[in-house]
Amino acid sequence: MLESTNRLLVIDDQQELCDFIVEVARRLGYETVAVTEAEAFRRAYLDFNPTIVVLDLQMSGFDGIELLRYLGTQGARAQVLVASGMDQRVLSTADQVGRAQGLNMLGALQKPMMLADLEAVLRKCMKPSVGVTAADLEQALTNHQIQVYYQPKARHVDGQWIVEGVEALARWQHPQRGFIPPPVFISIAEASGQIRQLTEQVVEQSIQQAAQWHAAGLPLQVAINLSPRLLNDRSFPDLAASLAARHGVSPHFLSFEVTETAAMSDPDTTMDVLTRLRVKNFGLSIDDFGTGYSSLKQLYLMPFSELKIDISFVRDVCHRDEARVMVETMVLLAHKLGLTACAEGVETQEALDFLAQACCDRAQGYLIGKPMPGAQLPAAVAAWNSKAMMIDVAQAGAGN
Ligand code: C2E
Ligand code: CA
Ligand code: CA
Repeated sequence: MLESTNRLLVIDDQQELCDFIVEVARRLGYETVAVTEAEAFRRAYLDFNPTIVVLDLQMSGFDGIELLRYLGTQGARAQVLVASGMDQRVLSTADQVGRAQGLNMLGALQKPMMLADLEAVLRKCMKPSVGVTAADLEQALTNHQIQVYYQPKARHVDGQWIVEGVEALARWQHPQRGFIPPPVFISIAEASGQIRQLTEQVVEQSIQQAAQWHAAGLPLQVAINLSPRLLNDRSFPDLAASLAARHGVSPHFLSFEVTETAAMSDPDTTMDVLTRLRVKNFGLSIDDFGTGYSSLKQLYLMPFSELKIDISFVRDVCHRDEARVMVETMVLLAHKLGLTACAEGVETQEALDFLAQACCDRAQGYLIGKPMPGAQLPAAVAAWNSKAMMIDVAQAGAGN
């Protein structure tokens, strides 16, 4: 198993708060596990070996102090952050209990928790000893150690979700430091200017993989993430087209996912690059839509063909009316603009059923498949698609 340097375990009996913390941590590059019960917490502590624990003090049926004692008896080295809606005195008592147990207490976060405060604490706790540098990345690029994993994307056709494509996601397993989370090395690459070389390798591997699948009778589409930095590079569309031509893969099977950031400082060049990609028949998705990283204005101005609804909305559709309204509205917006809608982060059947009902065109998430090496894709796709067909046949039978 790939192990990240920064691992966060959160326990809170409010699922929504767990989800919020997980989302913020994940975006910073943490690997995360969230639990809502004491027994699950103990198991997760032993299995996952977290580097930071976020602990709610007051939960129904048990309290956080018990768990602090448990961590103490285990000689836990993880940093411990206490979260609670209780007053400051209770929080500081909990802090003392933790210290008396020999724990690395990080202090307390008062609920309701503010995004900026949580982000600041988590950022501070990230081991700088992920410690990879642009020089390490240079070596990885030279030695072709960046591997591409592929996550299935299913399309809703005639009442079934059929996998027809994948998203390419870069993976770096450092020989000494282990798994380096993509947000960590992508930001190094963006800051150092290595992003072009990294993207070229991802694009080339992905197209090569697509060609192999196609030759084996599996005509999968492949979506590749594109850093906003490359949207200032007017030569990128020609590079993508020539790589596709070299491997004999039609651009119809390929698309690029982009988010908006401040780096889109030059809207004219961005528009030029995106339009030329579309003219060459590549697909174009606006990624993480609804998060502030991707805005309505970008959607309005740029020639996108797909809107990807951010995981933070999709995750909540089973327990928040507001999330359902947002997702339905984003699907409608996409359709009115002539785009397809893709929901990411689908983890439950209930969420997938809701998306079908909301007329969302595509879905992606751990329920359908996690990111995996290219060689594992054909079996995973066959298993998912044949299950989808079987459910359909069973439902048709039940209707007769
Ligand atoms: P993204 O483009 O939003 O990719 C989706 C992320 O969500 C992936 O994380 C994926 O593993 C994760 N994910 C997918 N389904 C689920 C689910 O059901 N539940 C949960 N909790 N997570 C899910 P990953 O691979 O760690 O990538 C993180 C980000 O790094 C990506 O976010 C993307 O912005 C960036 N990235 C990855 N590869 C590349 C690349 O080759 N180039 C560029 N420029 N960015 C990349
Ligand atoms: Ca993406
Ligand atoms: Ca995304």
